[in-house]
Amino acid sequence: MALSSRTAPRTPRPSIELEVVSTERLSAHLVRVTLGGAGFAAFENRPETDKYVKIMFTTPPPESAPVTRTYTVRRVDAVAGTLDIDFVVHGDEGLAGPWAASARVGAPLQLMGPGGGYSPDHAADWHLFAGDLSAVPAIAAALEALPADAVGRAFIEVDSDDAILPLESPAGVEVEWVVDPTHDAEALAAVVRQCDWRTGDVQVFAHGERESMKALRRVLFDERGLDRARVSLSGYWARGRTEDRFQAEKREPIGQIL
Ligand SMILES: Cc1cc2nc3c(=O)[nH]c(=O)nc-3n(C[C@H](O)[C@H](O)[C@H](O)COP(=O)(O)OP(=O)(O)OC[C@H]3O[C@@H](n4cnc5c(N)ncnc54)[C@H](O)[C@@H]3O)c2cc1C
Repeated sequence: MALSSRTAPRTPRPSIELEVVSTERLSAHLVRVTLGGAGFAAFENRPETDKYVKIMFTTPPPESAPVTRTYTVRRVDAVAGTLDIDFVVHGDEGLAGPWAASARVGAPLQLMGPGGGYSPDHAADWHLFAGDLSAVPAIAAALEALPADAVGRAFIEVDSDDAILPLESPAGVEVEWVVDPTHDAEALAAVVRQCDWRTGDVQVFAHGERESMKALRRVLFDERGLDRARVSLSGYWARGRTEDRFQAEKREPIGQIL
């Protein structure tokens, strides 16, 4: 009897072990960790600009299952045999943020993936990007992959001026930083709602804090009536939740965006 998809044993995804080659503070709130080493040979790159990996952290007791955290692969350098991950440093809470803030050269890091779901469509009339610092790696990678004549807008919400950093983009794609120290979940949506909306086919990439993405959902679908197929929208994290809780809540009404 064939096993149903519910009962079939899952094939474990392969994991690879890399090591920290260097670190760089990109801003007060973002640290780049460059990873490489012998394990890089097993990294199967993907074309999507939002490609992401699951980083596995071991927590005490040692025999317990590793805890995973999801991060965008900002850049792959196949010649150097390295990949960059840009971590938001968001305080002392959590595993990944504090790990990155004090990562030392030579430290090992185990990861699975990559997966990915979005690439800029060169046929779109214009591009809209919206997110917070956690989505900056994916937005920056997409901006760099756009053709030189691309047009659009990018809105990035941060909670202080010292989080702002220069991003490369085509001349026709303006990057606007939305500084909101109050963490108002409506702030990003309000700016997108009021922006100079171009005509024609828009492709959207919107990712970041979950409640902020729910507010954007209303703007993009209820108010602008966009086609779901043209919109990449999801929460990357949720305020007050660890990633474990955030992922578990995707099965509950509060965790659902689309
Ligand atoms: C596909 C995908 C790609 C992602 N790419 C990136 C990336 O490239 N860079 C990146 O930094 N993050 C990225 N994230 C978000 C990242 O996975 C979460 O922020 C994760 O919760 C961080 O883990 P942690 O161990 O540092 O904190 P956790 O243990 O998960 O959480 C501890 C506390 O910190 C808070 N917290 C978590 N993240 C943030 C944040 N960004 N700002 C403020 N408070 C926070 C939580 O709400 C919680 O209260 C991505 C998420 C997804 C799903």
